[in-house]
Amino acid sequence: MDVECIRYTLESPKFGVAREQNVSRIWLQEGYPTTATEKCHGIGAYCQAKMKKKQSTGTAGGDKAAVKELNPAPSYIGERLALWNKLKAEYDAELNNKPEKSIKVTLPDGKIVEAIAWKTTAYDIARGISQGLADNVIISKVNGTLWDLDRPLEHDCTLQLLKFDDPEAQAVFWHSTAHAMGEAMERIYGGCLCYGPPIESGFYYDMHIDDKGVSQSDFPVIEGLVKSIAKEKQPFERLEMKKEDLLEMFKYNPFKVRILNEKVLTPTTTVYRCGSLIDLCKGPHVRHTGKIKAFKVTKSSSTYWEGKADAETLQRVYGISFPDTKQLKEWQHFQEEAAKRDHRKIGKEQELFFFHELSPGSCFFQPRGAHIYNTLIDFIRKQYRKRGFQEVVSPNIFNVKLWQTSGHWAHYADNMFSLIFDNRIRSWRELPLRLSDFGVLHRNELSGALTGLTRVRRFQQDDAHIFCAPEQIRQEISNCLDFLQHVYSIFGFSFNLVLSTRPEKYLGDIEMWNEAEKALEESLNGLGQPWKLNPGDGAFYGPKIDITIQDALKRLYQCATIQLDFQLPIRFNLSYVRAILGSVERMMAILTESFAGKWPFWLSPRQVMVIPVGPTYDEYAEHVKEKLFEAGFMSEVDTDPGDTMNKKIRNAQLAQFNYILVVGEKERSGNTVNVRTRDNIVHGECSVDLLIEKLKHIQDNYIKDEKNILM
Ligand SMILES: [Zn+2]
Repeated sequence: MDVECIRYTLESPKFGVAREQNVSRIWLQEGYPTTATEKCHGIGAYCQAKMKKKQSTGTAGGDKAAVKELNPAPSYIGERLALWNKLKAEYDAELNNKPEKSIKVTLPDGKIVEAIAWKTTAYDIARGISQGLADNVIISKVNGTLWDLDRPLEHDCTLQLLKFDDPEAQAVFWHSTAHAMGEAMERIYGGCLCYGPPIESGFYYDMHIDDKGVSQSDFPVIEGLVKSIAKEKQPFERLEMKKEDLLEMFKYNPFKVRILNEKVLTPTTTVYRCGSLIDLCKGPHVRHTGKIKAFKVTKSSSTYWEGKADAETLQRVYGISFPDTKQLKEWQHFQEEAAKRDHRKIGKEQELFFFHELSPGSCFFQPRGAHIYNTLIDFIRKQYRKRGFQEVVSPNIFNVKLWQTSGHWAHYADNMFSLIFDNRIRSWRELPLRLSDFGVLHRNELSGALTGLTRVRRFQQDDAHIFCAPEQIRQEISNCLDFLQHVYSIFGFSFNLVLSTRPEKYLGDIEMWNEAEKALEESLNGLGQPWKLNPGDGAFYGPKIDITIQDALKRLYQCATIQLDFQLPIRFNLSYVRAILGSVERMMAILTESFAGKWPFWLSPRQVMVIPVGPTYDEYAEHVKEKLFEAGFMSEVDTDPGDTMNKKIRNAQLAQFNYILVVGEKERSGNTVNVRTRDNIVHGECSVDLLIEKLKHIQDNYIKDEKNILM
């Protein structure tokens, strides 16, 4: 059989790249698996889903007595500490014997500070600048490498001091808190700690505990103990140790022994101590546990050692922490707001879409969801028409050869459009040729990875491709950017642009690269908004512009990519790898959450609700609804005799109807309606014809703040 699925990419590992980009920051929200977690341990989302399942059954037995600190403490704690004390004394003596030598430390502003090698620390230098800075700095960077604030500087170096607003400092802060939580877990459960990395939002620590789970009733006990650990301001102390000593120190813990044997390839590595915990770790960390001013356990679950289903079951405890209690409150507020907006929740409430076990990962769009879906496609389609794109319809199933020659998604799409371009001999006069396609794609995501509309097995993508001559590049890119700006501003998104340029290994002529990169830069400058350069990060076949959008909650999503492709020798290929929407499914999820279910009029599946003041006016209400429906609007009427008029208005507002039209005697006799909004702004009487005219104006112009424009 020589026909294989291309768009039906069954188990194709080559989708890794696209998938990676697709997930982006949406995972930041609690309750979604984090990609960072997966990266840390290679734990597939499949296992995470398994964990989730276990979590729900595991925590069901909530009536068990809460845990408490073990007394006596696990015996390994004392044994570990004895070896530490011996080796640490030797190390300190060695440090004291280093000859004093003056070194130069260069600060970011160019200022040079004199220091003493093996003695002066980054913290000393911070304090030399100001005590306030020393108190607020989380971690330092020495010659570009993260460095403990209390670790002596060794040579002439550059020094940066990072505060909590720096993502790297956040990761260090959260990783350090994982140690404090690990210390508490040892003292409470006495099990074997495994890995404890930071994730996108917080951290976790895995522990192997014999036949015991961590239940929600344990959380306050862990939090209480971490609080007392923070109060003690336990310093994070660093010690470099020989592998054989480490194997002796961690002999009680088969998991750390495995890490030492399989992952540590150097003769020595470091351990860090805070309080009773001594942990195998590369570091660095905050100065002491007292920096942790706010801490919460967020959830627990079971998982497997290194994500392998046939390996040992581990208990994973997730936490979040901040250097300021106010930041924890803000974080909690954000989580609540995000949960309220969860597209899976709103999709259910508003009867937009659902999933069924008979086709996992493929969404069933109900009529109102399908309305939004189709409106989005129509919207893009109208833009295509305006902007000189021609739509094509391409097959779903291809000969495997196309897949083999293209290698990954970006190239596959290139090749697909090229088949159309090369179908007959083309003239230069046809350039630029702009083609677009709403291809349906299938991707065999593992069932555990499926999360609402953000990871699905069936989706539709708005791909576009432009064939143009070199001298047309600049104008075409400018057009693309204008297109993006137009669409995203209608959605209410701001966006960031990053230009990635020629990598070390590249294909094609260097002159061509230089010219194309210059054209891209000029187009970006012409847009009049700041953009960033990511040198050397382009694909080997051409430079690209990545576009990240920011929703109403300031969450970031990677959507569009403008990719140049020099692979085909006689012409430039300019392609949107993922065009404006990306996948329509995913964009629906993003928009649902960004609008929080309050759809703008043009996209709304519930535009107008007509409500009669009493049954006498049911007929007129039906007539108004019909008239609006014929004019192309999503109109409904509520003639339920069981509800009062006020109840009906309230229901319609809660259901997010953009406009509610109340009709009674006055309206019927004058062929008018009384208009109010879902936010209960009463606009008053308006003739039906005039209303239709105004609504058309709002719809056709994608007006966001429709309530102000109506009257
Ligand atoms: Zn660590």
